[in-house]
Amino acid sequence: MDEIQHNSQLAYDAEDEYRPEPTPPAGPPAWQDGSIRIGIHTSIAGDIAQSLEIAHGLGANALQIFSASPRMWHVGSSSPMKSIGAGPGRERFAPTEMARFRARREELKLGPLVIHANYLINLASPDRVLRVRSIQAFHDELIRAVALGADYLVVHPGSGRGAHAREAVESVAQSLHQAARGMKLGGLRILLENTAGQGTVLGSTFSELKFILDLCPDLPTGVCIDTAHMFAAGFNIREPEGLEKTLQAIQSTVSLARIFIIHCNDSKTPLGSRVDRHEHIGKGKIGLEAFRRILNHPMLAPAAAGQEKEPATGGVGRAFILETPIDKPGDDLRNVRTLWKLAGKPAPMDFIGAARDGFRIRPSRRKKLAARKSSAKKRSAGKRAAANKRKR
Ligand SMILES: [Zn+2]
Ligand SMILES: [Zn+2]
Repeated sequence: MDEIQHNSQLAYDAEDEYRPEPTPPAGPPAWQDGSIRIGIHTSIAGDIAQSLEIAHGLGANALQIFSASPRMWHVGSSSPMKSIGAGPGRERFAPTEMARFRARREELKLGPLVIHANYLINLASPDRVLRVRSIQAFHDELIRAVALGADYLVVHPGSGRGAHAREAVESVAQSLHQAARGMKLGGLRILLENTAGQGTVLGSTFSELKFILDLCPDLPTGVCIDTAHMFAAGFNIREPEGLEKTLQAIQSTVSLARIFIIHCNDSKTPLGSRVDRHEHIGKGKIGLEAFRRILNHPMLAPAAAGQEKEPATGGVGRAFILETPIDKPGDDLRNVRTLWKLAGKPAPMDFIGAARDGFRIRPSRRKKLAARKSSAKKRSAGKRAAANKRKR
């Protein structure tokens, strides 16, 4: 072989230029294909990536998590408020941990990923210290959500605690702006959740949520509706006419196109109780048939990216997420299965339901295991027979 001649006179050839791999066109993520997305709130205790395995193992194709302990103040290390009540716990994840989480989520095709913000956050608080602390905590929520590649960050609007309702909703909008100031949110969308309306809590009516959203036209926002909260707030979604009326109320205020997440929870408390108590699907005051109507309602169906209808009723990437209690082992699996059943769709992975120590065996795997077991039995029986023969 001829030796390559190196000389400084080589003509520049554009073909020789190093070109990095072209970045794939930033199309919509795979989960925005208009297919039904059913998820569940899962624990991040121990290892955040474990939450993905749990959701996947339960037969969900979407999930919601907290990105830190939900009832503790976590104040970023850069914060001047660290001295005033930074609780224990973790406020940041290691970069390797986050990279592993993102990669595994992609492998498992879980989407959307929803993060529920800390319950202590009150963006409407008239108390200055609490308000500043809430803004800082929500800022940290945004940072963690972006770092984890979350699609939605759900937050309760808060409580004005006696302040005039108009002042309170203006405070929420102002706080949201302050928390997001200077941030690149990427694909993250902030969702305000409707509430049961207990005490002075904001957001039990859709017009109140619209008021806040209208004050944030520059932020990527939307709404998360919770079935138990709607019911407790007096929306009779148990009855077909009540559901229609509720959907009309949503469409004429915040608009259905801005509903990205539907928290599916039955309610322990009666219609209009203004008390928020979640119950297993079908075991509460809303009931199975109402959930069947909700899951199959054309106005609540997800739309595929780029194929939105006019007037838009199907939110792109809309998902149904369970926040039901776990009173006994297997409740989570049962609730996920119930939603798939009500939606008339087989769960993505059809488990036999043999849940043992958190491991579920797939039917195909189960058959193999059974075959292996019986052949091992035969072998040992054969050995025993041979040994007995020898003895004789
Ligand atoms: Zn909820
Ligand atoms: Zn709730």
